[in-house]
Amino acid sequence: MNRRKFVKNYSLIFLSSFIPKLAVGKEVKVFEITKSKREWKQILTDLEYKVMRKEGTERAYTSPLDKLFDKGIYHCKGCDLPLYSSDHKYNSGTGWPSFWKALPGAIGTKTDKKFFMVRTECHCSRCGSHLGHIFDDGPQPTGKRHCINGVSLRFKKA
Ligand SMILES: [Zn+2]
Repeated sequence: MNRRKFVKNYSLIFLSSFIPKLAVGKEVKVFEITKSKREWKQILTDLEYKVMRKEGTERAYTSPLDKLFDKGIYHCKGCDLPLYSSDHKYNSGTGWPSFWKALPGAIGTKTDKKFFMVRTECHCSRCGSHLGHIFDDGPQPTGKRHCINGVSLRFKKA
């Protein structure tokens, strides 16, 4: 192999190592609202950042929203998109604010395989901030339980 050919082949291998992440990346989504890490840190507390941008989980029974049943709308703390209505909230007894459905088009989902479990992760459809997980043990009519971190939400009373 002459040197020029070698360099060409080598650079192809080098380039192709980046392609899977860009082109095939399973769950790479582009959200309408994006911010740098620094910008997120400016508007979120440490806990909010950990939950919303790093898919963390707040401690159970710590959110004042868990036992709140006033009429109103729960907005994304990252971008203010209306996500959940109090009409669909219920007391699941889990210690996290729980809803049996989201507002139309408000959330996106993906498969989360962390901690040796297969769960459905949900996030704000506009800024991608992590909200919580969706389980199949919720009340009718959907049978779904959207188990949401209260720190990801901002409640606006009707
Ligand atoms: Zn958002």
